[in-house]
Amino acid sequence: MRAVDIIAKKRDGHELTDAEIQFFIQGLTSGDIPDYQVAAWAMAVLWRGMTVPETVALTMAMVHSGTTLDLSPIAPRVVDKHSTGGVGDKTTLIVAPMAAALGMPVAKMSGRGLGYSGGTLDKLESIPGFDVSLTIEQFHETVKQAGIVVAGQTADLAPADGKLYALRDVTATVPSLPLIASSIMSKKLAGGANAIVLDVKVGRGAFMETLDEARALAELMIRIGEGVGRQVTAVLSDMSQPLGQAVGNAVEVREAIRALQGGGPDDLMEHCVVIAAEMLVLGGVARDAREARHLVERTVTDGSALDRFRRWVVAQGGDPRRVDDPTLLPTAPVVHTVFSPRAGYVSVLDAREVGLTAVDLGAGRQFKGQAIDHGVGIVLGPKVSDRAAEGEPLFTIHARDAQSAAAAEARLLRAYCWSDEPVPAPPLIYDIIAR
Ligand code: URA
Repeated sequence: MRAVDIIAKKRDGHELTDAEIQFFIQGLTSGDIPDYQVAAWAMAVLWRGMTVPETVALTMAMVHSGTTLDLSPIAPRVVDKHSTGGVGDKTTLIVAPMAAALGMPVAKMSGRGLGYSGGTLDKLESIPGFDVSLTIEQFHETVKQAGIVVAGQTADLAPADGKLYALRDVTATVPSLPLIASSIMSKKLAGGANAIVLDVKVGRGAFMETLDEARALAELMIRIGEGVGRQVTAVLSDMSQPLGQAVGNAVEVREAIRALQGGGPDDLMEHCVVIAAEMLVLGGVARDAREARHLVERTVTDGSALDRFRRWVVAQGGDPRRVDDPTLLPTAPVVHTVFSPRAGYVSVLDAREVGLTAVDLGAGRQFKGQAIDHGVGIVLGPKVSDRAAEGEPLFTIHARDAQSAAAAEARLLRAYCWSDEPVPAPPLIYDIIAR
């Protein structure tokens, strides 16, 4: 078999066999197939799509590119969650401690930023010392110790996804239904979870812009999970505007800590309660979503979720003083507040533009392996349906220098549309598909 023939077959719109997909993923993992061929193949998949059997074969080839974890010695039932990617999405930093505080272990493989969407690993690394490159033994030990572990793909765990993900990030090949579904599900299956809550984002800041596309992605991932005996719930949630107020890395960790202290923005809190509640139901900790909500909310008021977050940071080598005093997290030298150019109701706050601006500031990557700046980012003020007075603070930019702050200001002002009449807030959750 030759990689070039497989690329050509997909380019011409034909269905690949299981053997061809396995050959390609093995070659990608070993490095025998170079990045430029992998990138060409990913672009062919993006344009031509994949059938369900091809997507399942791709997922399983990526699962088997490394070891698969067996978490049964740690807990009889481990529930994982994963977002399809969004802007300002710091949900894992909040829901993992909520669930763990209620006795539900969370062992999770996450990703880095992808295109304009942020990545949990990058956010966690803004806590000095926090180590996301764990061996399998460390992964097990951490979840035993702290009840939570979040790590990246390693040479052991779904390495093919790690390589493909990094290439997709910089070759404009992210928004492909089969590539997203196989990327997410390969991590979840290799990570050993028995049940999975998928947070499928919809809107301008998501890879799936319409509800129909998001539903199709959710159904595909549910089919992959069910095919291998996993229970999967998909929450279809809004990503037309960023989640919460902060977009970046350290700024998002600060907001997550505030949320765990009970002071997070309402949309972020509500979203996290819904996701954590679905995890508890799948994990058998609560009978239904109502009971689960009540339990989850209590982890914030009684401080147990914040305690758990601190324990988790310590277990992965992070400096707990940054949790106790989040002002010690990385900051940017230039902090520039921009005031509203007019009075009115915000009718659009384009999440993609906000995400791309954060990447321009240095919070994400323009090329593979690029170092990011954990201190830069954006903190938003009024969001959709909020009224702003002329001259009221609209957003604050945290930048490396005045020049990048000015460019970010100009770009971000274009992300807003205004109305003189009141505008309804978009729904936070569109649907929950539970099987
Ligand atoms: N999250 C992932 O893990 N992979 C994708 O492709 C998109 C979001």
